[in-house]
Amino acid sequence: MKLQGIGAAPWLAVGRAVVWQDEQLPPGTRATGDAKAEMARLAAATQASRAQLEALAAGLAAAAGAQGALILRVQLLLLQDPMLMDGVRNAIEHEGASAGHAVATATRDLVAQFRALADGSIRERAADVEDLGRRLLANLTGAPPRRPASGIVVARNLSSSDIGLLAEQRAPGLVTEEGGPAGHMAILARALRLAAVVGAPGAVARIREGDLLAVDGISGEVIVNPDEGTLAAFNRRLEEQYSLDAQSHKRKYLPAVTRDGIRVEVAANIGTPAEVGPALAAGADGIGLFRTECLFIGQPESPSEDEQYEVYRSVLARMAPRRVIVRTIDLGGDKPAACWDFPAEPNPALGMRGIRFALARPALFRTQLRALVRAAGAGKLELMLPMVSSVGEVRQARALLDAVREELGVAGSIPLGAMVETPAAALLAAELAAETDFLSIGTNDLTQYVLAVDRLNPAVAALYQPWHPAVQRLIETTCDAALRASKRVGVCGELAADPRATPLLIALGVSELSMAPGAIPAVKDAVRKAWRHQPEVHLP
Ligand code: PEP
Ligand code: MG
Repeated sequence: MKLQGIGAAPWLAVGRAVVWQDEQLPPGTRATGDAKAEMARLAAATQASRAQLEALAAGLAAAAGAQGALILRVQLLLLQDPMLMDGVRNAIEHEGASAGHAVATATRDLVAQFRALADGSIRERAADVEDLGRRLLANLTGAPPRRPASGIVVARNLSSSDIGLLAEQRAPGLVTEEGGPAGHMAILARALRLAAVVGAPGAVARIREGDLLAVDGISGEVIVNPDEGTLAAFNRRLEEQYSLDAQSHKRKYLPAVTRDGIRVEVAANIGTPAEVGPALAAGADGIGLFRTECLFIGQPESPSEDEQYEVYRSVLARMAPRRVIVRTIDLGGDKPAACWDFPAEPNPALGMRGIRFALARPALFRTQLRALVRAAGAGKLELMLPMVSSVGEVRQARALLDAVREELGVAGSIPLGAMVETPAAALLAAELAAETDFLSIGTNDLTQYVLAVDRLNPAVAALYQPWHPAVQRLIETTCDAALRASKRVGVCGELAADPRATPLLIALGVSELSMAPGAIPAVKDAVRKAWRHQPEVHLP
């Protein structure tokens, strides 16, 4: 039998199926007379859940980079979100409910509300709410919230903590019924190098526990109990994958140079200092994207200037003499932070996010810039601005940066770049290149905005295509403009991690590719096979 889904992480895996059926939340005992004791039990379970999630986030950060930790922090945020926790506390204090009953009921209500919403990114959060409710309940009853993931996990949907578990237990792959190539499952699977097929309808009902699965994360095909010939052919491809991986790992610390001798910087995307070690171990030539919003997300309070300074200083010092490109806070949109007040917006992806958010809160932005300018001496620092859509935003940010430098008495400028993530930025690439020191193309958002496809909405996931000619044309426009202005152009979105895109991006003039550390060895090898300028061909 064959199932067809969407290839979400381009690796192959063969293994036995571990089928995760949807679990019902246990009801919990309805009533107790002792609200004080139940509140104390709730506090203990909340604390235990926080500790477990933080441990999982640290594991994911090390294995999958910033994106992994960031996605899991959504649950840490939920743990302090009044939307869930006020309902729980009310039921205990005013309705005499037991802590277990209150958690089960509030979780079920919130999941139902989220599932009913049209917004795809919020619907995706329902899995996280459910998962968190289950974790709280398990901690209330003392049962560890663990499920074995020793084979290829087949499920309707996976929460970020489920994927943390897959990483911990080194599961070789996953197959899900829901999700798309740009959803959180796919992002994490790619960062963890798991073979992943998402959006495979009927997978949970049609695959049985223990079935042998051959999962093709490239074509999206899942072969259930393959015959001998099919299995042998699949295993040959698997061997090839292992051997290519092993070869590229041997060369990962060497520079990536094209056939015609052009050096391409292959750098890592990180979100926390804990990821510097894995980036260096993967052979990173530098940091091409430090997602500094990760320092804010999941924190009850905004980190102080000194706290930020210490983080930036340590990353710069450990990476020196390599370049570190720090992206200024990219909060808002799908990245809210508990420590800042985000007014509800009808369409957050088109609202106060990225550079707009930073410029609208000059005190917050100034604190970050001060910390960065103070840390600059520790290594090779460059800054870049997220979600730029006009030249004015770059000028405003540069003025703030200059004022901060003057205030701190720091001579010497810090290179400043603009991210190209909106169609406006790509179409204004010439003007932006004239105002900046470099451009960096964020293909994740660029794809979303060019194609008008929410990157988190599974309903339109099949339309999310970085290879779409409209996206490719804007990448080309951006590269042309940067080269004409003699400025560097890099790519730091997910497309940079795809070795199939490497020859094209290099031919367009991209000189820096930045990605989750796990992809670095294979992309370095792809650079070595590529040409910047095609050789002259002499016809006979
Ligand atoms: C991008 O949009 O391509 C990008 C690199 O930024 P993020 O994924 O953090 O939005
Ligand atoms: Mg982006």
